[in-house]
Amino acid sequence: MNLWQEYKRPASISEAIHDLTSATGPAMPIAGGTDLLLDLKQGRHAPVHTLIDLTFVPEMTVLELRGDELFIGAAVPVNRVALDPLTGVHAQALVEACNLIAGPQVRNTATLGGNVAHALPAADGTIALLALDAQAEIASTSGIRRVRFKELFLGPGKSALKHGEELLVGFYLPLKKYYQASCFKRIMRPQGVALPILNCAVWLDRENDIVKDIHIAVGPGGGTPFRATEAESTLRGQSFNEDTFSRTLESLLGQAQFRTSARRASADYRQHIVDGLFRDTFDTAWKRAE
Ligand SMILES: Cc1cc2nc3c(=O)[nH]c(=O)nc-3n(C[C@H](O)[C@H](O)[C@H](O)COP(=O)(O)OP(=O)(O)OC[C@H]3O[C@@H](n4cnc5c(N)ncnc54)[C@H](O)[C@@H]3O)c2cc1C
Repeated sequence: MNLWQEYKRPASISEAIHDLTSATGPAMPIAGGTDLLLDLKQGRHAPVHTLIDLTFVPEMTVLELRGDELFIGAAVPVNRVALDPLTGVHAQALVEACNLIAGPQVRNTATLGGNVAHALPAADGTIALLALDAQAEIASTSGIRRVRFKELFLGPGKSALKHGEELLVGFYLPLKKYYQASCFKRIMRPQGVALPILNCAVWLDRENDIVKDIHIAVGPGGGTPFRATEAESTLRGQSFNEDTFSRTLESLLGQAQFRTSARRASADYRQHIVDGLFRDTFDTAWKRAE
């Protein structure tokens, strides 16, 4: 049996929205298909009538500077995100995350927008974008709007995008300034190729020994991609030393809601290893910001 009945290839955002809202049966956007096609094939997704391929929409495939922001189109493949000089300068955590997603074949087709729209709390690109304080651009019949990244998620695998009505156009990131840096690291099963046991992204702004500002994201640290805002408040404005580190870690452990995933790790194990992962990620970002 066919996995879909109709396949559309819009060439603009308005055409994509039109195709999505006027389909004669259930319609889904598709980008690289590395999540969606497997889900359809393995029966984890309700049947779809129309697939709307976003990879020919020019606005969704650009990666460029726009004023004082970096814009990454939702349909940009993660290998392009990892290799582009602009992300190398302004979004190191995202480069590191995208370089770790799957293997080279999947990275050539999997897109950043697909990684985010799938709404998994430990998706690597998603966790990096969260720490980098991204904003998302969304298109619908009412036009284009921006939302804070965190507002995109409702629960595990459940994005806040209105089904059959809204599309992710791309992501805006603030440009890196002097003494700012970021880092992404993850802990993976040795033979694992998909989601990690735990990942962590840190962005920080440093002034000598003071952490002027910091964003910490950990996946999976809850039902939606998790920003450790209490740990951030504990560390913001403080000098970094063993005492502030242990208070920061305590805040992180108090706020995170680690979960047990059947094939990856128990909540207890994640609770145990987050100390080393966070320390390592923070240390690298801290040195980069010198
Ligand atoms: C072997 C393998 C290994 C993997 N390893 C990793 C890993 O290490 N880390 C990791 O994070 N992920 C991993 N993944 C998951 C996957 O590759 C990523 O999540 C990928 O980025 C999804 O992008 P895509 O373009 O293929 O999405 P698709 O499969 O095309 O779409 C995924 C979902 O997003 C929706 N969607 C896509 N684009 C948009 C848009 N612009 N607007 C609205 N909705 C949209 C689709 O309708 C669908 O619901 C792996 C997958 C495989 C098969």
